Amino acid sequence: MAIGVPAEGSEEPRIGLTPETVKKLVKAGAKVTVRSGAGLRSHFSDDDYKEAGASIAKSDEDAVSDADVVFTVRRPSVDLAKAMKKGAALIGMLDPFSDRAGLEALAKTGVSLFSMELMPRITRAQSMDVLSSQSNLAGYKAVVNASAAFERALPMMMTAAGTVPAARVFVMGVGVAGLQAIATARRLGAIVTATDVRPAVKEQVASLGAKFIAVEDEEFKQAETSGGYAKEMSDDYKKKQAELVAEHVKNQDIVITTALIPGRPAPKLISKAMIESMKPGSIIVDLAAERGGNAELTKPGETAEHKGVRIFGQLNLPGQVPVNASSLYARNLQAFIEPFIDKETKELAIDWEDELAIGTAIARDGAIVNERVAGGKTS
Ligand code: NAD
Repeated sequence: MAIGVPAEGSEEPRIGLTPETVKKLVKAGAKVTVRSGAGLRSHFSDDDYKEAGASIAKSDEDAVSDADVVFTVRRPSVDLAKAMKKGAALIGMLDPFSDRAGLEALAKTGVSLFSMELMPRITRAQSMDVLSSQSNLAGYKAVVNASAAFERALPMMMTAAGTVPAARVFVMGVGVAGLQAIATARRLGAIVTATDVRPAVKEQVASLGAKFIAVEDEEFKQAETSGGYAKEMSDDYKKKQAELVAEHVKNQDIVITTALIPGRPAPKLISKAMIESMKPGSIIVDLAAERGGNAELTKPGETAEHKGVRIFGQLNLPGQVPVNASSLYARNLQAFIEPFIDKETKELAIDWEDELAIGTAIARDGAIVNERVAGGKTS
């Protein structure tokens, strides 16, 4: 079985395979070809890949033309798919619910498309869960970026010249990213509070040494779906939540927002008035910026400033920790593909009946095959 790894576009520092995973896949019987220089922004050189057993190709076309499987981080161009063999598998974070025309053009090339974001969240697939591996790093980087930009210290310091007070960090949305944001802010010595609409997170927040703050009414007790995600809350709940947040936010120095509801725009949790109630110098990092943002003044991809409060709407935070992000992402891909390598023949043998293949496959033989993608159902 041949695996090809092209270079990503200029906006993406991560790469789909690392020397570590190349070594493992070569051991499992694969032949790997990596485009020259593709790993450099994650600090993996051509020599590192060669040492791990890969061949180096001069162009993306050369890297993918003989491949049975191509690994990418982002959705590649139609030209790249055209350079692949018909029926070969293209596996990456293909952003399946945006740019439908582009996705159909990619499908029409005849390559099989697999979108890692659609991996079923079942125990067997935990090691393949790219949303978790990348969100965890985003939560970490959000706090690190905020603390670097914050013009005060995070931990309390008692010095001969007086006491520096600890900063207050508030994390909104305690999924994978939020939990890591809490842990990171605690390590830096901040006083951390957190909120979510799912009652299950209350204990997790306490176990990380943070205080849980939420409107804990009857609706809150039912707010988690069987899949572990949040539901859209009623207008009445939203009003009560807004009152609670308004009261709390005005005393916070750093707010990290990560709240998402599958298939919906990000809930608006921080209004302009709340931002105006914060002290100048305070910082909001809006990790939901890609889905419209949790704060009213978030500008996706930019830093907005309003009355001395900065709102970071940066996209692709995992890409700011590319070495770790690539390493974890590549392990997710390796864990997904290895069971599909035939132990005897070492050929690619995708089991199309397997629920992980069914969940992630979005196109086959020129057509969109995924029910969720075909119906535009994002959850
Ligand atoms: P997510 O990215 O969908 O959402 C982030 C958080 O925002 C969630 O905790 C959600 O409850 C919260 N939120 C939504 N609306 C809110 C509001 N109005 N106010 C405050 N908070 C709000 O979540 P995620 O990180 O993908 O995690 C979702 C769940 O999936 C968690 O229970 C997590 O433990 C679970 N999970 C399971 C697996 C697995 O089994 N393989 C892997 C990863 C995560």
